[in-house]
Amino acid sequence: MEVRVHQDYCKGCRLCVTVCPRKVIEEGAELSERGYVPPIVAHPEKCANWKRTDKKKAVCEMCILTCPDHALEWDKKAGPQQEVGEE
Ligand code: SF4
Ligand code: SF4
Repeated sequence: MEVRVHQDYCKGCRLCVTVCPRKVIEEGAELSERGYVPPIVAHPEKCANWKRTDKKKAVCEMCILTCPDHALEWDKKAGPQQEVGEE
């Protein structure tokens, strides 16, 4: 699964960029309709949850838990969609 940025809620504070231990999220370059610059999910395959499906609990949600505007969520249909063993 892959983390997604809601353009309508993000205010471009970049906390998620700072907090991600795997450098999955990077600073964006384009203005949203609200006039902010949301980050981009540049390296989704590096996310600790990339191979996880909705049957498995996320092992890291630092970005989602840190976002003050609830602008991040999981897209559970993105990613390799395969079961993984305990890590
Ligand atoms: S869940 Fe963790 S590893 Fe994945 S993008 Fe968020 S902070 Fe980075
Ligand atoms: S922490 Fe939330 S509001 Fe701040 S840049 Fe990331 S997605 Fe946007």
